[in-house]
Amino acid sequence: MATMITEECINCGVCEPECPNDAISEGEETFQIDPELCTECVGFHDTEQCAQVCPVDCCVPDPNNREEEAALFDRAKHIHAEQADELVLSPATSRFRTSEPF
Ligand code: SF4
Ligand code: SF4
Repeated sequence: MATMITEECINCGVCEPECPNDAISEGEETFQIDPELCTECVGFHDTEQCAQVCPVDCCVPDPNNREEEAALFDRAKHIHAEQADELVLSPATSRFRTSEPF
């Protein structure tokens, strides 16, 4: 599922530069995440980077936008077409893969 920002956001802006997909922007009320660009950091990090840095823990999985790892990885490759061959789906680059192999 894509990550979303709740109304608890304090507009600190810390999350914006951490997103590998430039999915975060300043909205009218709070910062926001474009679900068409969010890959839950699949392809780049094993955890959602926005959630990692948010001081008020308001970057959370969107329960209304559940997605599988494969779809998120395909999105990452599409967004970063110029480096698609370099993206890796491995325990180190997907939170879907922890101690268990895919
Ligand atoms: Fe960007 Fe990752 Fe946060 Fe999605 S989960 S908005 S890809 S930092
Ligand atoms: Fe809002 Fe959290 Fe991003 Fe700060 S880090 S802008 S509080 S979502």
